[in-house]
Amino acid sequence: MALILTEDQLILRDMARTFFDEKSPVERMRSLRDEKDATGFHRALWKEMGELGWIGIPFPEAVGGADMGYGELGAVLGECGRVLAPEPFVSTVLLGGNAILLGAPEPLQKELLPEVCSGERLLALAFQERGRFAPTEVETTATREGDGFSLRGEKTFVLDGHVADQLVIVARTSGGREDRDGLSLFVVDAQAAGVEIQRTEMVDGRNAATVRLDGVTVGADRVLGDVDGGFALLDRVFDRATIGLCAEMVGTFEETFERTLQYLKDREQFGVKIGTFQALRHRAAHMWTELEFARSVVRDAQSALDDDRDDASACASAAKARCSDVAHLIGGEAIQMHGGIGMTDEEEIGLFFKRLKAAEFTLGDGIYHRDRFAGLRGY
Ligand SMILES: Cc1cc2nc3c(=O)[nH]c(=O)nc-3n(C[C@H](O)[C@H](O)[C@H](O)COP(=O)(O)OP(=O)(O)OC[C@H]3O[C@@H](n4cnc5c(N)ncnc54)[C@H](O)[C@@H]3O)c2cc1C
Repeated sequence: MALILTEDQLILRDMARTFFDEKSPVERMRSLRDEKDATGFHRALWKEMGELGWIGIPFPEAVGGADMGYGELGAVLGECGRVLAPEPFVSTVLLGGNAILLGAPEPLQKELLPEVCSGERLLALAFQERGRFAPTEVETTATREGDGFSLRGEKTFVLDGHVADQLVIVARTSGGREDRDGLSLFVVDAQAAGVEIQRTEMVDGRNAATVRLDGVTVGADRVLGDVDGGFALLDRVFDRATIGLCAEMVGTFEETFERTLQYLKDREQFGVKIGTFQALRHRAAHMWTELEFARSVVRDAQSALDDDRDDASACASAAKARCSDVAHLIGGEAIQMHGGIGMTDEEEIGLFFKRLKAAEFTLGDGIYHRDRFAGLRGY
């Protein structure tokens, strides 16, 4: 496993850094939040990212993608994380896009993915029904009706669900509430009869939705993977999405750490820079070692996906367990070390804290992923 970026990945990262520094400073995210922008990000910027080929990085050329790997995607996602860019990589590429790529029959892939790669089509994956990440806890039902299915239920925290063109819905075709067997995935148009979408503003300034399904009709040609066997597909989608999210988090860790370090060097109290105090230096050193550790675990997980290693699921959980813990540490220490101003909304450091807090729990927190890792390793 290479712990350093390849030459191509470095070029991609530098291009992305220049792009985001110029077009997406942190105040852009703040004004989108303050104005309660109807979309929550800029569609024009997202399309520009499509033209640059970044949205299509993990998709095959046959559907308009660039056929590259998670090392390359991570190089771009890390830069999104540095500036808190709210564009829909997690919802449209990592969750919805991977569900279509891994589960859809070829005609459906060719119908949907080219416009995903160009930035014109937005997707969302509606899997969650409660506050916590528990992918088998599904009560939404899909009952057979003619050649297709009828969906009924309610989904919550559907990331970017308020603007998605298509929703991938996880519903129960058989089994009990927490059974792994009996789940199925369906592609539903957001405009379909019986779909009601209500926007939810999140603590990190991003948007999600509550999606209500009241007898929504879906054809059998819109099923992803096997009927009743959807959990296996969902599990693979979550592995990829988790590893992508961790790459974004590492970028946010880097920026949060660098800003905090700079503050320790600038802020004077009792006639000296506060960074001269050993108590704060030790805490900063702790942040840095944890950041480096997280970066290494995430790189390993990216390699596991790109090299098609059979420990990719365990690596995804190791990465998210570490990143969730580090998000808690770095986010909290940044606020503490900024003193009183860290508490205020005017200071950008609080925006980083809020994004890290949301990311800590998205797709499972540290406890969830340590438990999953232990299960996968047979402990
Ligand atoms: C909403 C809010 C509520 C508050 N409520 C209270 C309250 O109820 N009671 C109260 O007493 N205060 C309260 N405060 C004030 C808060 O405790 C101070 O902000 C805090 O003491 C940090 O001081 P500072 O802001 O001047 O930060 P700075 O002096 O800039 O310090 C930044 C960081 O360096 C650390 N630091 C500074 N000097 C040293 C040093 N010599 N050695 C080691 N570390 C050092 C600080 O602890 C902090 O982590 C509140 C602040 C806010 C924003």
